[in-house]
Amino acid sequence: MALDSGKVREFVEKTWDESIVPTLTDYITIPAKSPMFDAQWREHGHIDRAVELLRGWAGSRPIEGLRIEVVRLEGRTPLLFMEAPGTGVDTVLLYGHLDKQPEMVGWAEGTGPWTPLRRGDKLYGRGVGDDGYATFAALTAIQALQEQRARHSRCVVLIEACEESGSHDLPYYVDALKAKLGTPSLVVCLDSGCGNYEQLWGTTSLRGVVGGVLTVEVLTEGVHSGAASGIVPSSFRIVRQILDRLEDARTGEVLPRDFHVEIPRERLAEAREVASVLGAEIYDRFPFLPGGKPVSTDAHELILNNTRSPAPRAFRCRPTAATCCARRRRSSSRSACRPRVTPDARCDASRRSSRRIRRTALASRSRPTARRETAGTRRRPIQSCSSRSIARRRPTSASRRCSPASAGPFPS
Ligand SMILES: [Zn+2]
Repeated sequence: MALDSGKVREFVEKTWDESIVPTLTDYITIPAKSPMFDAQWREHGHIDRAVELLRGWAGSRPIEGLRIEVVRLEGRTPLLFMEAPGTGVDTVLLYGHLDKQPEMVGWAEGTGPWTPLRRGDKLYGRGVGDDGYATFAALTAIQALQEQRARHSRCVVLIEACEESGSHDLPYYVDALKAKLGTPSLVVCLDSGCGNYEQLWGTTSLRGVVGGVLTVEVLTEGVHSGAASGIVPSSFRIVRQILDRLEDARTGEVLPRDFHVEIPRERLAEAREVASVLGAEIYDRFPFLPGGKPVSTDAHELILNNTRSPAPRAFRCRPTAATCCARRRRSSSRSACRPRVTPDARCDASRRSSRRIRRTALASRSRPTARRETAGTRRRPIQSCSSRSIARRRPTSASRRCSPASAGPFPS
């Protein structure tokens, strides 16, 4: 039977307001950091608390035949497995995760990672958009169908707890649950972003990441920087030269051709369509300093830059030569000044490179996204607009209701 989309919206919004936002608010208070950021996650019990919170909420959903199980493999983070029977032979797998990124720094005054803050139609706090919403979105979608007595396939919901650490436990659970999972006909990965709240968005692919730590050493031990400068080659200059082999410092173009791919024609067309929908929103969402501006105002070009072209991620040099020398002097270390050039988000690298499930991510307007919950940078999912009928350009007041931080076109 055809769904009454108005009723679906009404149901989802009501559930969202009355049940999901309060639970997500509680979820923010739990520092359920991924194991990579909390080696003592077992002792701290935060991940278990998050699991229990989500399990409790799931258990309160009147979904026909819903089975909920917390699966625990020895030595691994737990996994929340849910199963809703359906008709037909197909299985739909809905995926999400409940572990969080660490606190990071740069929170605006009055905000904090574990302090829920509702400001206008947005809810701020760590993990709310990445990826706390997934459990709620998955089950609410199933329930919305059942509310209208619409037939749906068997659905399995899999919520893991180490995604931010590279999903290293997930393959073991996929193996262990093989019989229960069956062979899904569709995998919906609720862990990406959306361009706006006006249409359904799908992520077509994610760029890979090559991460590493670059260390340049020129002396066997530390010396006073004033004594060495002009005599000893500058380690910074060496770093610069190495980086210049990778990127044209004037244009930002990545030089090794191996990083470039031919962009399929259909992806170019999709990028054009996304550009026509989002326009200046693509760069307007960034908090530029006065005088700052995007590298281009051509939305199409920016989308391709952001999704299909190779690009060095933000690099952080730590410590600087000067501070390094100063620190070395203070600590009387014998080590030489060693600028370490580190990709800003190594965890991104490991996470992506080890991602086992090829993610077909869908994000609907109800997907609670977060304008970066902190100052931290995160991955930028490749976006493509899955709807041909693009209408309004800006979120309406209805779509800007309190959802865990709405806002940016490319969150998460
Ligand atoms: Zn995520």
